[in-house]
Amino acid sequence: MCDGRKIPLLSKSRFTAGLQCHKRLYLECYSRELADEVSEQQQAIFDAGTDVVALARQLFPGGILIREDYFDHEGAMASTQEALSLPAVPPVYEAAFLYDGVRMRADVLAPQGGERFDLVEVKSTSRVKDEHIYDAAIQLYVLRGRGLTIRRACVCHLNTDYVYEGGDYDLSGLFRVVDVTAECSLVQPEIPALLADMRAMLARPEPPDIPTGRHCTTPYQCQFYGHCHADELEHHVSQLPRAGQGLLSALEAAGIEDIRDIPASFPGLSPLQRRVRDAVLSGRAYLDTELSRRLRRLRPPIHFLDFETFNPALPRYQGSRPYQVIPFQWSLHTLDSDGTLEHREFLHEGAGDPRRAFAESLVSALGDSGPVLVYSGFEASRLRELAFLFPELSPQISAILNGRIVDLLQLVRAYCYHPGFHGSFSIKAVLPALVPNLGYDDLAINDGTLAAMAYAEMVKPDTTRDRRAEIRRNLLAYCERDTLAEVELFRYFTR
Ligand code: SF4
Repeated sequence: MCDGRKIPLLSKSRFTAGLQCHKRLYLECYSRELADEVSEQQQAIFDAGTDVVALARQLFPGGILIREDYFDHEGAMASTQEALSLPAVPPVYEAAFLYDGVRMRADVLAPQGGERFDLVEVKSTSRVKDEHIYDAAIQLYVLRGRGLTIRRACVCHLNTDYVYEGGDYDLSGLFRVVDVTAECSLVQPEIPALLADMRAMLARPEPPDIPTGRHCTTPYQCQFYGHCHADELEHHVSQLPRAGQGLLSALEAAGIEDIRDIPASFPGLSPLQRRVRDAVLSGRAYLDTELSRRLRRLRPPIHFLDFETFNPALPRYQGSRPYQVIPFQWSLHTLDSDGTLEHREFLHEGAGDPRRAFAESLVSALGDSGPVLVYSGFEASRLRELAFLFPELSPQISAILNGRIVDLLQLVRAYCYHPGFHGSFSIKAVLPALVPNLGYDDLAINDGTLAAMAYAEMVKPDTTRDRRAEIRRNLLAYCERDTLAEVELFRYFTR
C-alpha cells in the first residue's frame, strides 16, 4: 500500500513493467517482497544478456563505463556528466539521466559529432520486438528532455544469420544495429499520458484489481506471477489448450473462470478444448483406443529416444550461429521382443563441438531397424540439422527420419487427456498424471533448461574435476529418466 508515501521515481524498467500491467508496477514499487524468487534459469538468462551487452559495447570502442550501480543514480549521473564534458566526448556505456521523474541508464550513448548522439539499446534477442520500441522510446524521451540531440535511437540485437568462423567474433556480423527512431518518435506523444496514468495509479492506497491473463507472461514473465496465481482455480479456463484471446474474453464476459462451468453449447471451443472440458468435468481420463492400437502396431526393437541441447546466445563452435541449438547428449532405451529393456547413452565431454560425436554414436546405436519413439518433433528437427551438417552421415540419418520416427506427443494430444495434465501435454505434465510413481523430483537436474545450463558449466575450463563429475552424473540421470518416462508411457498405453 502507498500509506501516504511519496510516489517513487519511475525508471525505464518500471515504465515497461507498468506498460505490461499496472499491478505489476504497483507491486514492484511497494511490495517487492511478494516477488517470485529468481530461478537459476532466469538468472542464467540475465547473465547471458549481460555478456551480450558487454560485447556489444565493443562496437563503440574507446568508451567510458559509468560504474556506479543502480542504487547510486546520483553518482552515476555525475560521472555521466563528467564523461560528456570531456573535450573529445567518448561513447558512454551505462550513461545515467533523470528527467520528468524517470531515471534511465543507456546501454550506449555514442557521439556522432556536432554534440549529437546515437542511443543504442542492446538486446540479446534475435530481432527487434514490439516491446523494445517503448524501451528505447522512454529513453529518447528522457534524453531529449535533458536537452541532448539524439540523431538516432537504435536497437542492437544478435544476428542469427552470422556464422562464427572461430577466433574473435566479427562484431559487425554478430550484431545488427537497427534504427528505430521513427517508431520511437511515433510513440513520444503518448509518453506523458502513460506516465501520468502510472503515477495516478501509484498514488492509490491499494494495488489495482487486475485479473491474471496472458499479460502475466507476455511480453515478459512477471515476477509476481506466483503471488497473483496463488489462489487460482485448479482448472482455470486459461488451461484450455491453445485458447486464444477471443475465447478467453468471451469466457470472461460470460463470468466463467472454471473449465467445469463451461456449458457444452459454449461457442468457439475446438474439438480438443471440448475434450478437455469433458474430461475435467467428468474427473476421468479420456483415452481413445486408437492410441493403444497405433502403439501396439510397432514392432520391436522399439527405441525410445531423447536429446539434451543448449543454444548459447554467443556461438561457441566454428560454423555455428547465435542461438543455434547444439545437441550434446542422447539417451536411448530399447525394448526388445522378449521384453528386455536396454539402455545406452552419450554425453559429450570437453570444450569442443559435440555434434559429430553425438551424430556418429547415435547413428550407430539406432542401427537400421525398429521404430524410434520420441516425445515432440524436437529430435527430428535436430536430426535434420545434423544430416545437413554432416553430409556423409545424411543417408543413415535420413533412413531414421523417413519412416522410423513416432511422435508420442502427437498421439497423446490426439487421443488422450487427463484432468491432471492441466492443459499441458508436455511429458512433465503427462507423466505424473498417468504414471504417478515415476517423476523427476528426486533428480538434481529436472528440466531441459537446467540441463543446458549444467552442460555449459561442465565444459567450462575452470570447472573443477569433481564438479564436472557431479554434473555428468546428474545429466546422465536426467536424460535417462526422460527416455524411461517414454517407456513407461508406452507401457501404460499398451497395457
Ligand atoms: S502476475 Fe499478472 S496480474 Fe499479477 S502483477 Fe503480474 S502481470 Fe499483473
